[in-house]
Order: sequence, then C-alpha cells, then structure tokens
Amino acid sequence: MPKLVGIRGSSGSCVSMGLLACKLGNGESIRFLDDVWVGDMMLRVLYPRVYALSLKKNGAVSEMGHRIGGKWEWNFEFRRGFFYWELDQYHEFQCLIQFVLSKEEPDIIFWKGDTMGMFSVKGLCCALEDKWYCEAGWVVSKVIRKLVPAKVTTFMWQLQQSRVATKANLLEKQIILPDGGVCGLCVDGIETTYHLFLHCKEVWATWCSVVQREGLCWVITQTVSNLLLEWGELRIISDWVMWDMIPYALVWTITIW
Ligand SMILES: [Zn+2]
Repeated sequence: MPKLVGIRGSSGSCVSMGLLACKLGNGESIRFLDDVWVGDMMLRVLYPRVYALSLKKNGAVSEMGHRIGGKWEWNFEFRRGFFYWELDQYHEFQCLIQFVLSKEEPDIIFWKGDTMGMFSVKGLCCALEDKWYCEAGWVVSKVIRKLVPAKVTTFMWQLQQSRVATKANLLEKQIILPDGGVCGLCVDGIETTYHLFLHCKEVWATWCSVVQREGLCWVITQTVSNLLLEWGELRIISDWVMWDMIPYALVWTITIW
C-alpha cells in the first residue's frame, strides 16, 4: 500500500469525500478530529459536542496523549465540563478510542478511490465525476459514460438545464434575430429548448418512430429530464444498452440537422 501523506495537504476534498483513509502508526501525520482514522467518519462529524468543546481542534493524534511506561494514555483538554445532555456523546467517544493504540511506525494514508489502493488520476476523475453527477442531481449510468462521448453527455446535461443556444435563449439575452426566433425546422413556433429537441413536429416524429418500433404508444414528455426518466421505464424489446443510448444519439443528431 502506498504512503500518500504528501498529497493530503492539497487534497482536503479527498478526505471529506472519503477517498483517503488512515492507518494509525505513531499518530504524527494524522489529524485527530479531521482525518478518518478510527471508525468510518471524522471524529468532529461523529461527535460534534466533543469537537465544539475541544481546546485542541487541529492537533495530530500524537498530540492528544502520551506514552507512560510503554502504555498510551489519552489526555484531552476541553474548555468546560460536559453537560448532562452531552455526556452520552462523550462516553461514546471515549469508548470508540479507548482500545486504539499508537505504534512506533509512521502513519499510512490509503487511497480509497480504487480497489487496489493505488492513487491514479483516472481514479480521482472517476470519483469526482460520480460526486459531481450526484450533486447535480443527474445520474448517468457507468455503461453510458463509457459508450457515449463526454461532450454528448455534457450536452444532454445542458439540455436538461436549458443552457443551450436556442433562438429563444438568445432572444432572452437581447440578441436580435432576423427571423424573430422561429424554429428553423418547422417554421411554426418559437425555437425553445424543449421545442427544438422534443416537440417540434419534425423532431417529435423521429422520437415517435423510435418508440413505435418497440410496439409502444407514447406521449412525449414536457422536459428532457422527464424524457430520460421515462425512457428507462419503457418496456422495450431492443437491447437495453442500445436503448439507453438512443436519446443521446438523437439529441446530438438534432444539433447538426
Ligand atoms: Zn419546430
């Protein structure tokens, strides 16, 4: 397992994302409250009252006690005693760490981004991508991410947010269009995001023909987000992977019509 102490200073987010884990050695490189070294959470998150009252919030594990006769003893300092309602948390905290023993060898920090424990830029990118998709409320399966180019999945995300340069969006930015923003495909209605990619009669016919090939009757959704949600629920006879790729292929094709 690699020793990765050197990368921690610039990777606080990796710690908070749970991508780094610590194996306690002498405790000199591991922050007592801010690293995940006992249990599976930072102690300051697990025991907020202990953190709030601690007088040493940034100390290393080795600074929180001392060795007496070869035996490790904790020595905490708090700005006041614990109130009755805080005692349960304090006792739980004491139980958790009472059997932890520091050793002579250096601490080790593990990379948890892949199963081998080896740090790689690819592993970091995958982990960050997972987090970003999750926070954005946008879930793209790993299969799709492997098969569909990133520029297409990103474009789909932009479509869901209506952050694409449709004529309606340009008009909103006070850009003057000679045709007044009318859809270039059907010449019937303003070219909004959902019109251009879903409801325009030229585009709608294409969506419908794809669905009808599966023997289904279908009403197109109002938004791209709903379309993607509903798409996965349709009972189709084609291959699932191919089916899931169709919306990406179709919207990308529409951009070059
Ligand atoms: Zn149209």
